[in-house]
Amino acid sequence: MAEEFDVLVVGGGPAGSTTAGLLAQRGHRVLVLERERFPRYHIGESLITGMLSVFDELGVRERIERAGFPRKNGLSIVWGADRTLWNVNFAEIDGPYDYSYHVRRAEFDEILLDHARQLGVTVVEEATVKEPILDGGHVTGVRYECGGEDVEVTAPLVIDASGQSRVLSRRLTTVEWAEDLRNIAYWTYFENTADLPAGQLGNILVERVTHGWFWAIPVDAVTRRLSVGYVTPTASLVAGGPAIGELYDAGVAESKQLKLLLDGATRVGDYRSTRDWSYRGRAVTGPGWLSTGDASGFIDPLFSGGVCLAVLGADAAAAAADTALRRPDLADRAMRAYATGIDHMVSSFLDYVRFFYDPTRDREDYFQQARSMADFNERYPDARAAFVAVISGRLAMSELFRIPRADETALAGSVET
Ligand SMILES: Cc1cc2nc3c(=O)[nH]c(=O)nc-3n(C[C@H](O)[C@H](O)[C@H](O)COP(=O)(O)OP(=O)(O)OC[C@H]3O[C@@H](n4cnc5c(N)ncnc54)[C@H](O)[C@@H]3O)c2cc1C
Repeated sequence: MAEEFDVLVVGGGPAGSTTAGLLAQRGHRVLVLERERFPRYHIGESLITGMLSVFDELGVRERIERAGFPRKNGLSIVWGADRTLWNVNFAEIDGPYDYSYHVRRAEFDEILLDHARQLGVTVVEEATVKEPILDGGHVTGVRYECGGEDVEVTAPLVIDASGQSRVLSRRLTTVEWAEDLRNIAYWTYFENTADLPAGQLGNILVERVTHGWFWAIPVDAVTRRLSVGYVTPTASLVAGGPAIGELYDAGVAESKQLKLLLDGATRVGDYRSTRDWSYRGRAVTGPGWLSTGDASGFIDPLFSGGVCLAVLGADAAAAAADTALRRPDLADRAMRAYATGIDHMVSSFLDYVRFFYDPTRDREDYFQQARSMADFNERYPDARAAFVAVISGRLAMSELFRIPRADETALAGSVET
């Protein structure tokens, strides 16, 4: 490629397009290489509010709003020792964002990538990155395949935002698996579904059953389409035991709330499945590279936090990259601060997800645990409010990322809540 770039970003999902767009806004020349041609299908449809400030910073929220995705007001949940239905709303805590969205990811990701293009990012789709180019231990570029041609491109910084493919990270580091969260998900779509009770409209439903839990996400208000997925430990699939499809059907039959939503509904589309996704990279930065979004780590989908963590991580990645490119004297500090922030963010989320998975606890325990989380007891003295803050993604607080800015010598928070 004849053009010169400051940053190469591998992957045009939410993490890649956010990092690229923010870097272009700061005046950098950015190339995104994306394997697919958008729009393309992706799971991860229910969004929390924690990253909406980044979409405002990018100037893309108006477009998301105009796309007409169903609004997500909060969470309705059948969980805990007594398995009753309860709910919380984002609007219960102060802040600029009372609702988020349930998105069809093909359309949503296309909006984000197209917006990055409008901000000046060069995007090449159907470009499959194969490997990093290394000079000693330093990443200097990537090799990719596009239209049957093998291409090499170099830049001072390469960012792995290739999601769970981890196309560069898998060559540069290893992962630490959350062995206790080795789960499998199995999902499909239904239309003409019924509503949650009054006061809970627009919520995601999360319902626990004996061997796992379900999500029910209203992704299209016109066709009343619900995304309905079942998550169970991979270990519950034993040779000679029930297949995942049988567990899914038995779970729906056992459910209290989900089966009311599906009464009279029609299944549309096939079943899909994925498994074993909770891990984190042992390194998220190194000479000439960093990783962000799912490529740096992913925790169970229980709280619909994936896109939020990816976008908040991308915001921090862009801040670190900007500093590293403009101020080589601060580069090491910026990269270390980024790595520490990602570690804190993923650890806090992981701890809370683990606590929540314990079926012997009840609602009040979940609230109190949220309140006890670092930094939350002062900001949210009310335990229920602390819980809403956690499930909104306020978890990724300003103190997590203390990345030196290119134009300052003092440390500054890069993520604002
Ligand atoms: C079962 C399940 C349910 C989930 N539900 C939710 C939810 O309700 N809400 C939520 O917020 N999150 C959810 N998530 C998580 C969410 O899907 C991810 O966290 C999110 O998509 C991460 O964004 P990303 O940009 O890091 O990666 P991705 O969105 O995966 O984007 C990575 C991009 O990289 C591209 N790519 C891959 N390899 C290459 C290559 N070799 N060369 C070039 N490009 C490449 C891919 O085509 C893709 O477009 C769920 C995850 C799972 C597994």
